[in-house]
Amino acid sequence: MAPAQQPCVLVVEDESAQREVLFYNLDAEGFRVVMAENGDEALLMVAEEKPDLIVLDWMLPNVSGIEICRRVKSNNATRHIPIIMLSARSEEVDRVRGLETGADDYVVKPYSVVELMARVRTQLRRTRPATMGERLTYDDIMLDSEEHRVFRGGKPLKLGPTEFRLLSTLMEKPGRVWTRDQLLDRVWGRDIYVDTRTIDVHVGRLRKALMTHGGLDPVRTVRGTGYSLG
Ligand code: CA
Repeated sequence: MAPAQQPCVLVVEDESAQREVLFYNLDAEGFRVVMAENGDEALLMVAEEKPDLIVLDWMLPNVSGIEICRRVKSNNATRHIPIIMLSARSEEVDRVRGLETGADDYVVKPYSVVELMARVRTQLRRTRPATMGERLTYDDIMLDSEEHRVFRGGKPLKLGPTEFRLLSTLMEKPGRVWTRDQLLDRVWGRDIYVDTRTIDVHVGRLRKALMTHGGLDPVRTVRGTGYSLG
């Protein structure tokens, strides 16, 4: 099964050599990488791929990087996606303009790939902690995404790989109601056909595992919609 939880990074860059360098390095970091050569393609990819992060070149033909940044950040459905802007211009005024458009970080070309990758990881640790080796806690549940272990009240729990991915998704945003379709995307991956009833089966298994040593059921069923943690 595809590692559905690996973060997806969208690279928007019109120069193919630059694109290749970014693809190679992001791929080596274990991310799923999708690419766009211009603004129109970028906006299409944002809608279709729902990336977890965007590396966005400032200088693009037609729709500029700044404009893409503005559009992504002014849309409720996409504003949470972190954007790292790349620019060839280092003037302070550009930096400020970049940040005013809502970009989360800003890197001046020529940049160090090591530095850029570190900034990508920083953004993703904030927004997708379960995919970046972070420890997540909710109530008395602790999930160690690096060691792939889950504890409740300090006692280890046995979870299958699907239940583990399901729990990490829920623990990244406690209180958020996930539809079955959203859980399918996150946990199974969009390229795989899975019956939505399968989700209910795995949620059932997850609940059982979480209550191995007692405790209340932390997973809430939202009728007609899906599930949330708490
Ligand atoms: Ca460019």
